[in-house]
Amino acid sequence: MEKILEVKNLHVTFTTYGGTVQAVRGVDFHLNKGETLAIVGESGCGKSVTSNAIMRLIPNPPGKITAGEIKFKGKDLTKISEKQMRTVRGVDISMIFQDPMTALNPTLTIGTQLTEGLKQHRKLSDNKAKKRALEMMELVGIPNPVERMKQYPHQFSGGMRQRIVIAIALICEPELLIADEPTTALDVTIQAQILELFEKIQEVTGVSIILITHDLGVVAKIADRIAVMYAGKIIETGTKRDIFYNPEHPYTKGLLNSVPRLDMKGKLKPIDGTPPDLFSPPKGCPFTARCPFAMEVCNKVYPESTTISDSHTVDCWLQDERAKKLLANMVTN
Ligand code: SF4
Ligand code: MG
Repeated sequence: MEKILEVKNLHVTFTTYGGTVQAVRGVDFHLNKGETLAIVGESGCGKSVTSNAIMRLIPNPPGKITAGEIKFKGKDLTKISEKQMRTVRGVDISMIFQDPMTALNPTLTIGTQLTEGLKQHRKLSDNKAKKRALEMMELVGIPNPVERMKQYPHQFSGGMRQRIVIAIALICEPELLIADEPTTALDVTIQAQILELFEKIQEVTGVSIILITHDLGVVAKIADRIAVMYAGKIIETGTKRDIFYNPEHPYTKGLLNSVPRLDMKGKLKPIDGTPPDLFSPPKGCPFTARCPFAMEVCNKVYPESTTISDSHTVDCWLQDERAKKLLANMVTN
């Protein structure tokens, strides 16, 4: 499978008066062409910072990419000029955010906002841009596109606005779409429609998608693969099957236990405790303080990634052969 994006050892910090926050601490992952990777975790785990880093949208100061590579189609985005990056953002990679209202300009018609990028980046004539805008409005399911093009954002419902934002994001045919909590601000029924829309546009355009979310329901619906983030690190990655049916990291298991599922019988079990302070993150496993299986080594040394299968990796000492033997002995004794 062709890798469209490869992130290696990414570190991002934010310097404040109170000290330096280590928001992203050595993150590795890749995205295959045409797939949807969900980056999941609680708020503050570094998932939005990771996606903003890919877009080079980390405000410097106070933020900084302090180490790592972000290879998009083989080109390291951390090394190119801001001018080159503007083209990447306009043409190759698009991003959409939680609140569709802030992404749209209230003073411009939808038509103007849809055609802007095409004229600027693709140098299309007015007519050609308009034709393409109408096609996109149809693709994202906006009825009466000819009339709707002349209207302003406030004349659309929240769900319709998010459809327009998606149309704008895709109009220049990017190869990668990053969606940061794209359905969080919407009603549940509208959420489902927008998720279906993501599936449809991926089918039609072949766009690769990174979906940032705290919502496992969203993940279950559209992700192919999942990366679970905790305290600035990716602690488990796998296919949707691996993560939902065979989770290995105690944090992933906790996350799955804390959400309502159709097949769930008992009560929801929230994970006790809070994530560590990223001003001074622990040297060892960041989940130690909350983990029911924590061992002495956990607090001292970060566990290396263990490969469970071709698609599944986990950072947890329980997967280490030595810990496994110890546990096996404890069970037999
Ligand atoms: Fe728990 Fe240790 Fe695994 Fe961390 S490394 S999740 S503390 S068992
Ligand atoms: Mg966020």
